[in-house]
Amino acid sequence: MNVLQVSAEIFPLLKTGGLADVAGALPLALNATGCQVRVLLPGFAPILADLTDRVTLAELVAPWGEPVRVCQGRLASLNLPAYVMDVPALYQRAGTPYEDAQRQPFTDNDRRFALLGWVAARLAAGLDAQWQPQVVHSHDWHAGLAGAYMAYLPPQRARVANVFTVHNLAYQGLFAPRHFFELGLPASAFSVDGLEFHGQLSFMKAGLFYADHITTVSPTYAREIQTPEQGCGLDGLLRTRAGDLSGILNGVDEAVWDPATDAAIAQRFDARKLEGKAQCKAALQQALGLAVQADAPLFGVVSRLTEQKGLHLVLAILDELVSRGGQLVVLGTGEAALETTFVQRARTHPASIAVRIGYDEPFAHQIFAATDVTLVPSRFEPCGLTQMYGLKYGSLPLVHRVGGLADTVVDCSLEDLAEGTANGFVFNNFNAHSLSRAMARAFALYAQPATWRKVRNRAMRQRLDWSQAASQYLALYQRLCH
Ligand code: ADP
Repeated sequence: MNVLQVSAEIFPLLKTGGLADVAGALPLALNATGCQVRVLLPGFAPILADLTDRVTLAELVAPWGEPVRVCQGRLASLNLPAYVMDVPALYQRAGTPYEDAQRQPFTDNDRRFALLGWVAARLAAGLDAQWQPQVVHSHDWHAGLAGAYMAYLPPQRARVANVFTVHNLAYQGLFAPRHFFELGLPASAFSVDGLEFHGQLSFMKAGLFYADHITTVSPTYAREIQTPEQGCGLDGLLRTRAGDLSGILNGVDEAVWDPATDAAIAQRFDARKLEGKAQCKAALQQALGLAVQADAPLFGVVSRLTEQKGLHLVLAILDELVSRGGQLVVLGTGEAALETTFVQRARTHPASIAVRIGYDEPFAHQIFAATDVTLVPSRFEPCGLTQMYGLKYGSLPLVHRVGGLADTVVDCSLEDLAEGTANGFVFNNFNAHSLSRAMARAFALYAQPATWRKVRNRAMRQRLDWSQAASQYLALYQRLCH
């Protein structure tokens, strides 16, 4: 089964969030099932720098007249065949893949990402005579136009299935309608049965509308996005597509996230030998100027600092956390107001709260390794990876019962403790009181070390690798190709 995976980011080369982790892990997991996966990526500097055995596959002209070189080679860091669009004017810029250094979206993001879908459709239509994809699998709004172009470009040599995965419905790729005529799509595509969304262009809607099948990254999120509360205005469309919509839970890339082999942490450990975890905790407390106290429950946050992540609830319970004898470490970057408030709170309680603003991959590993609890109080969460990293590293997740968090974490209620299914703490209502009660349960369990160890042991042994998700994607591809 030849699969072309299309995304804007890929770990370890370019990452702003969980999308990159998935884009880096899924191809290798699919290859292990017998698929032949190739990836298509924009030519951001770190991606081009990693591309070995590089040759030019084609020199094309984008629908708006810009020359486009499509290169082909192998990503050295992943040992994965890749197509990359080498268009320096579009992709070689300061800032994130999506925003400039002032955190403003690039004004030509429509072109920068329309091209991703357009080249995907050209590959589906036989651009590479040596390799024909049977499935084009595109991820999030950045790749959302792949299906639209596949529907309207000149006929394909073979029928190619088109799968679209929603990693976060809240980011939709909305653009002013004047951009439509640059895209080279027929006028009929700018309608309610197409890209049009309340008078604007929506790349996310295109992805949902034209896909043969839509997946989201957890079964619960697949249900939630069909409701007005979580559908971001697209729930009506998603309800009409309910028969072609399913949730496949992400996995953990164990080549990257495994405390037994992790080179970024102070001491390696596993479920059988946990001395290393205590050493990681002491090392982190020391490095951050926290009181070096083995028996202080250490809570961790590794997160984008955005409204979605519910961190204002953490701020609301922070004094209680400290007065109960807990500690908190935060690593994150995002909204200025959240950054400033967390930094101020750390100044007030330097022995109990440490905050680092920024993006730091090794430090994220150190936090999961050191902490006792991983906080993920998101308002909504399509899948969430950090609660799964917490499970693997013996840092019990404390989460809001929503999306993928609901699918991966079972509260330490008396009955779930007795039945051996509990692996963390879950709160039902998105408010500080509900979070505070879950935190109180975490403190109560921490005060019973034998039970805590039992729950942690179970959490660390849970199977979270990508093999299950990969077989579900494979089954989907096979069904669509018949
Ligand atoms: P989202 O994709 O919404 O940001 P996920 O939980 O799916 O949330 O994935 C977040 C990924 O980004 C995880 O791999 C997490 O460790 C990482 N991450 C988030 N913020 C930071 C940060 N400041 N430094 C390092 N890694 C981070």
